[in-house]
Amino acid sequence: MKIEDKTDESSAQGFMFGLVILGPAAGKLKYTLLDKQDITLLQNHLLEAYVEIDRNGQGAQVFAFAYDVKKGKESGRYVHEILWEKYYGGIAPGFKVVHKNGITVDNRVENLMLCPKNISHYQCAGQKNPEDSLYWAAVVEMPHEAEPLYMKLFTAQEELSLMKEERYFECHYPPCTKMEQRPQEFSICGLCQVTRYCSSACQTRDWTWHKPICNQRPRPIFIESYPDR
Ligand SMILES: [Zn+2]
Ligand SMILES: [Zn+2]
Repeated sequence: MKIEDKTDESSAQGFMFGLVILGPAAGKLKYTLLDKQDITLLQNHLLEAYVEIDRNGQGAQVFAFAYDVKKGKESGRYVHEILWEKYYGGIAPGFKVVHKNGITVDNRVENLMLCPKNISHYQCAGQKNPEDSLYWAAVVEMPHEAEPLYMKLFTAQEELSLMKEERYFECHYPPCTKMEQRPQEFSICGLCQVTRYCSSACQTRDWTWHKPICNQRPRPIFIESYPDR
C-alpha cells in the first residue's frame, strides 16, 4: 500500500515517542505508537496495519506490520516482535509478545511483555480503559487530520472496496481502539450507513470531524442498513 510514513513529534508530551500512520484497517485510519529511538530503526521499513482474525472466534486485532523495502513483503513481521528481539535478543520458545495495556498498536517497549503461547492475550494483558492510555492522548491531538487524509488516500469507490474486505470494524473515533468481537456488533452512523462506533459517546466526540465527510459518501449497497441504536 502506497502510504507514506509520517511521524508526529510535535506533541507536547516531551518528544519521547512518535505516532506513525499505518494506513487503513478495520474501517479507519490506524496509527502505531513507537518510542522515539525506534522510529529510526524502522526507517527502511514500510509499515502497515494488519488485521488478525482470532481463530477461536474472539474477534480480531489490529497490529502494526513492517517489512524491509528492499526485501519485500515476505520479510514482513509484526513490529512488536521486531522490537522485542531488538531489546531482549529473542522471543523465548513457547511465548509470544503481547501488549500490556491491551492496545495492540501501542508498540512502546515498556508496553510489551511475554505471554505463554497457550494463554490468550486477554488473560495476559490487562483490559484497561483505552481513554487513560498514552495512545488515546496522542491520537486525540490529531483526529482533525485523520478523516481528510483518509479521504485523500482513497476515492470513495476505493474506500468502499476496502470496507468490503473487512469483517470486523474498530470504533471509528480515532483514539478509540475498541474492536468488534463479532461482525456487525457496533452501531452504524445513521446518515452515511458506513461509519461504526462502539458507543454514542465516541460517535458524539467524532462528529465534528465526521460531519463534513459523512454526507459526501455514496450509500453503499452491500452493507445492510441497520438503524442507529
Ligand atoms: Zn469507541
Ligand atoms: Zn456518517
